[in-house]
Amino acid sequence: MPALAFSKEFLQKIKALLEEEKVRLTSELEKFARKSGHVEGDYDSAFPQYGDKEDENAAEVTEYATNLPLEESLEKTLRDVVQSLDRLTKNTYGICKYCKKPIDEKRLLARPTSSACVECKKTIVQEM
Ligand SMILES: [Zn+2]
Repeated sequence: MPALAFSKEFLQKIKALLEEEKVRLTSELEKFARKSGHVEGDYDSAFPQYGDKEDENAAEVTEYATNLPLEESLEKTLRDVVQSLDRLTKNTYGICKYCKKPIDEKRLLARPTSSACVECKKTIVQEM
């Protein structure tokens, strides 16, 4: 097993940040969505029920349509957070997925779900 690229203290800080973010995202999602199945971080938008009148039905559809993209973006962030926590457990956290070098600590603190270093990210953006 390779030596850890980061100090225990740093990783603990990151873990706390990620746990906090997970709680925040989960409570956001639970305002309008239900957990679906057994997959962690997977939610379904609940279809709102206002009534059976035409304007009520229209309001339900509007709200559902507003919630869907929000649910998707919250879910995606939550998935990133869960995956980062997973990498922490496996001691692979903070390693760039492209060049396999440790990612800058400042970058990780600012964005704990980063999985690529600044240089690789730059290269990818330029190639696109
Ligand atoms: Zn890299």
